[in-house]
Amino acid sequence: MAELSVQAEHSMISAPLIAKSAMRLPRFSRLFTISLVIIAGAVLVAYAAVRQAERYALREAGALSEEQLHLYARNLQTLIDRYRSLPAVLALDPAMSESLSGPLSAEAQQQLNLKLEQLNRAAGSSTLELLDHTGLAVAASNWRLPTSYVGHNYGFRPYFLQTRTQGAGRFYAIGVTTGIPGYFLSQAVTANDGSFLGAIVVKLEFPELEHSWSQQPDTILVSDARGIVFIANQPGWRYRILESLTPEDHAELEETRQYNRQSLFPLRYQSVRTLAQNQRLTRINGPHGPQDFLWTSLPLTDEGWTLHLLRDRSRLPNSAQTAGLAAVGAWLALVFAMLFLQQRRRLARERQRSRDELERLVEARTADLRTAQDGLIQAAKLAALGQMSAALAHELNQPLTAQRMQLASVRLLLDQQRHDEARQSLGRIDELLSRMAALTGHLKTYARKTPAGLREPLDLACVVDKSFELLAPRVQNEKVEVSLRMSRPAKVRGDAIRLEQVLVNLLRNALDAMADTSTRQLDIALAPERGRWLLTVTDSGSGIAEDHLSQVFDPFFTTKPVGEGLGLGLAVSYAIVHELGGELTVENIAQGARFTLALPMVIEEDPT
Ligand code: ADP
Repeated sequence: MAELSVQAEHSMISAPLIAKSAMRLPRFSRLFTISLVIIAGAVLVAYAAVRQAERYALREAGALSEEQLHLYARNLQTLIDRYRSLPAVLALDPAMSESLSGPLSAEAQQQLNLKLEQLNRAAGSSTLELLDHTGLAVAASNWRLPTSYVGHNYGFRPYFLQTRTQGAGRFYAIGVTTGIPGYFLSQAVTANDGSFLGAIVVKLEFPELEHSWSQQPDTILVSDARGIVFIANQPGWRYRILESLTPEDHAELEETRQYNRQSLFPLRYQSVRTLAQNQRLTRINGPHGPQDFLWTSLPLTDEGWTLHLLRDRSRLPNSAQTAGLAAVGAWLALVFAMLFLQQRRRLARERQRSRDELERLVEARTADLRTAQDGLIQAAKLAALGQMSAALAHELNQPLTAQRMQLASVRLLLDQQRHDEARQSLGRIDELLSRMAALTGHLKTYARKTPAGLREPLDLACVVDKSFELLAPRVQNEKVEVSLRMSRPAKVRGDAIRLEQVLVNLLRNALDAMADTSTRQLDIALAPERGRWLLTVTDSGSGIAEDHLSQVFDPFFTTKPVGEGLGLGLAVSYAIVHELGGELTVENIAQGARFTLALPMVIEEDPT
């Protein structure tokens, strides 16, 4: 990790600023692209949802409008139907035909007026009138009023012409006398021979209908065959022209005086979208300015009229916004879920990568540590050798002196021709040389650095022997009483030289501890115990102070004067033994200290 951060720091310092921003750029542009995609997706989804919701809302509203329109149509139709038969029934009244057959006396006319007045009241129609064959009103229910029809000629009205030719007529018009618009239904009055005598006319006005429709929030219009609106439930819509009029239309309107002197204005509108044959979304420049309407029409075939329902678009249930918001919400939830998952995967990958990195570093560090430890072990060994060098030099010096004496005696024996004795002396020199060679050979091996992690099968008793060889001069010089009790062979697995190093450390410490004591007893025992070999080194030295017991294995812990102790012997020994899966412990005994080395036994292998 430390290495990593150092590298990062280094690259940041040395890399030019441009490179730094270039490194950031892809990350920034990636973020920018993702944001763009999210926003674009949200807009798209919202748009689609709004469109869909709008379409759905329009369809719903359209169906509802159509239903309502049918209701209004029935309303109107019922009203008209109620009066349709009235003129037909009255036409059959002989009093009518009689009064039209000849000149009418004032009295008879008065009676007729009264009769029509009565009938009109009973039927609930607006006006009843009787026209002669020229279209002159001979009697009318409104004879009392200043706007009485009586005496006026209505021959120009289309319903009269229709009645004369077809027997019946109907026509919506503004009354030329009253100025009140209404629906005129007429029936021919005929003589017995079927000749045309005149017409009985009933006029219907729709104030109640218009009033009841005016309670509705929608705009309801009725237009005639030419597309002129003549019934409207709201002011400002009546006498609007929905379709353009031809010059013939104008001429005919003039002639029939259908809308009298009412000025007719075209209604300006523009279709936004057609939803069905009789239904479209329309922008209408109405009495209250331009406004969007859902416009539904229903033709009333009997009358040749068309019923219109205009529903203000802003009054349509607006679920579009909610749908848009919901869609955006859902989209964002989806996006964030995806981002979350991706982030989690990325984190997991990163975690895995840093785990791998860490493992690699730990391995490298472990290897470094092992190298350092090997170095330390070797250094401690060489240091110990150095400290032992005086004794070892002495050990080599002794046979050298002995050889020099032997050589002198050989020379003397040869001078005296005592060849046999001279040969014997040479044999002793040979022995001494062998002893020296063995010691220097051993020293060479001991000083050698062994490869780490060695696990060769070996006999622990032999290791003890060899260690003892190195310390034999001291043991003899210091007159130490040694007791050796070892069961052989004691097979363990490990590195012989390193184990020897452990033993040398233990033995040297024991000898050091006994340097100032009068009785010097060194006891070495090697015995098996529950799958392990236990090797104890017990001395009769000073023992270890209680406070120090827990510290003796710490590196650089020493109680010896500078130059004599480094405090590494036991620390290194402890490390060597643990690496071999063994244990090294210490305890004080009545007089002195005891170190116990335990190593796993090697199960006797197949001799092959
Ligand atoms: P060094 O011998 O260089 O001091 P060691 O790690 O071998 O380093 O020993 C550490 C210390 O443990 C010694 O200084 C000594 O105080 C104590 N010690 C080790 N062995 C014995 C012993 N057999 N008897 C008493 N003290 C001992």
